[in-house]
Amino acid sequence: MKIALSRLHFPVTTLGPGRRIGIWFQGCSIRCPGCVSADTWAEGRGTTTVDSVVDAVEPWLLEADGITISGGEPFDQAQALQALLQALPRSSSQDILVFSGHPFETLTNEPSVSTGCIDALISDPFLDGTPQTLPLRGSDNQRLHLLTDLGKQRFARYQTPLEADLRSLDVMFDDDGSVWLAGIPRQGDMHRLGALLDHQGHKIHTTAAPSREPRHDSLLP
Ligand code: SF4
Repeated sequence: MKIALSRLHFPVTTLGPGRRIGIWFQGCSIRCPGCVSADTWAEGRGTTTVDSVVDAVEPWLLEADGITISGGEPFDQAQALQALLQALPRSSSQDILVFSGHPFETLTNEPSVSTGCIDALISDPFLDGTPQTLPLRGSDNQRLHLLTDLGKQRFARYQTPLEADLRSLDVMFDDDGSVWLAGIPRQGDMHRLGALLDHQGHKIHTTAAPSREPRHDSLLP
């Protein structure tokens, strides 16, 4: 089955507990103003197959504590998402966290949700300018749903206000020299980082969506 992805990475340490496999879907129909992942909105890019994705992440599964699926909007490819979740040869201790911009109430009939394939789900769109006091959330309107016993066990601490040790971002370097970030930045962090790098003479390319203040999520030296 075909699937469109933006990126695969291991380890990701800022999108759930432990060292995780990160799978970013390509394509988002929701398009929240101020989204820092606007590079994942376009359709028609990153097309591959579910089997190829499973082959790519299988070696990482030997070391991973869990898998985080983000985007983009994973439920824009609901059938591919379900096929991927069923095909991943994960152990019973490896949880699945999925981010969606849809309200949870519209997702409850999705097979990947109703059949227990997902342990924890963040729902609802990012609302720029809304308070941001909760872990794994870009804005406090977004809800964390613990859907399985494993989800409850591993994500209970993410239901309480953000603790200092969860305020972090992973910084990755691609072969072409570009730098990218994983994690949930504080609102305005990307603007502050961009301004700092600009002040130091770096060339900055932004892929962020228009917002009330400019943001940057991709930084090219
Ligand atoms: S925050 Fe998520 S749902 Fe909203 S535009 Fe960005 S990728 Fe899409």
